[in-house]
Amino acid sequence: MAVTMDEIVSLCKRRGFIFQSSEIYGGFASTWDYGPLGVELKRNVKNAWWDAVVRQRDDMVGLDAAILMHPQTWVASGHVATFNDPLVDCKKCNSRFRADHVDLNAPCPVCGAVGSFTEPRQFNMMFRTAVGPVEKEDGSNIAYLRPETAQGIFVNFQNVQTTTRKKLPFGIAQIGKAFRNEITPGNFTFRTREFEQMEIEYFCRGEDAERLYKEWIEARFQWYLDLGIKRENLSLREHDLADLAHYSKGTTDIEYQFPFIDEPAELEGIANRSDYDLTQHAKFSGQKMSYFDQERNEHIVPHVIEPSAGADRATLAFLVDAYNEEEVKPGDTRVVLKFSPKLAPVKVAVLPLAKNKAPIVEVAKKLQKALIKKTDAVYDDTAAIGRLYRRQDEIGTPYCVTIDFDTIEKDNAVTVRDRDTMLQERVSLDQVEKYLLDKLEA
Ligand code: ATP
Repeated sequence: MAVTMDEIVSLCKRRGFIFQSSEIYGGFASTWDYGPLGVELKRNVKNAWWDAVVRQRDDMVGLDAAILMHPQTWVASGHVATFNDPLVDCKKCNSRFRADHVDLNAPCPVCGAVGSFTEPRQFNMMFRTAVGPVEKEDGSNIAYLRPETAQGIFVNFQNVQTTTRKKLPFGIAQIGKAFRNEITPGNFTFRTREFEQMEIEYFCRGEDAERLYKEWIEARFQWYLDLGIKRENLSLREHDLADLAHYSKGTTDIEYQFPFIDEPAELEGIANRSDYDLTQHAKFSGQKMSYFDQERNEHIVPHVIEPSAGADRATLAFLVDAYNEEEVKPGDTRVVLKFSPKLAPVKVAVLPLAKNKAPIVEVAKKLQKALIKKTDAVYDDTAAIGRLYRRQDEIGTPYCVTIDFDTIEKDNAVTVRDRDTMLQERVSLDQVEKYLLDKLEA
């Protein structure tokens, strides 16, 4: 049976993955905080992305641009004029909806009133703030919290190109917060007003764009599979060309079938954006945004492929996809998160069979201290062994190592338990570190 949103939210809270923000004040609409395990999980997702798209590739470099940018950026990018959602209110109960998310001829989904919607109004989704203590009446000190990380990359195109001397095609990657004043956030961390993006701008010659667009779709799809997402839950959706902005040559979304959203929903969009962005910034800044092609002895404005993913949505998809409830024996079920070892917040738990036997505890603590230098290892003696296993299953720890009486008295070996198969293997104490690291790498 498919996991429900309530089960995921409750597990996240119970085990410290994700908490409601400002909970002691009653929470704050659609904002969430990552707890001790959640911060590790999300960081592992971001690191896996960075590793795949920056570290493993010699045609990519990274960047970390500021959240606040010159306001002209958002005029050039089109966000000031067009980053709008159509908004309708119900005149009876004052509920707000995105006009494209409700049937305007149907009754209000909240109070059931008929014909109660206002005319749709355009609502700009950027969060505004004033730079300096007082907002000036003429609006000259307004700034925006960036609604995407992409523009920080475009405005640094020349800086990166001249400092790295990269030849086309090459790309710039960035991870960071973005803010959108969404009218209807919801579905836990799927749609929030503050979220994290993982974005790439991959610059190339116009004639190579179509091929590279296809290559990026494939590479990004494979990334989710490599990290354990089930193939049947993942799909591609190509946007109709007629629905795209005039400059766009194609957009394909990587979608995930969340069990609590009717249709597959976007995890990441890959767009073939032509030379639009650099051209716009050249126009509004008066600066050159071009590339000198030495072979052809000409200046060109590169085209760009943009794979744009959400760190929070990806993290939610990895959580949901990993969730399993299994009947271990009749009447006894366990919850187990079958995370890829790369993403699991804890990789190894070292557990003493008896916490009041000093030699056992000593060996266990010593092993954990040795392992922590190489991987995420914890020591836990707060319950009986059966319960400790279940707790580690529930947070997705791939391996548990138990130190018992035989370790001390007989064989100088430990029991390694596999999360997924629950099979146990005896491994000698002096081999166990290598054994675990090999398994985690495999
Ligand atoms: P949607 O159609 O769901 O609003 P979008 O097409 O506007 O998304 P993009 O502008 O392409 O999204 O942003 C790239 C990625 O950033 C999305 O694929 C998603 O993973 C993430 N993202 C966008 N908006 C949000 C949000 N409000 N909350 C969480 N993640 C988001």
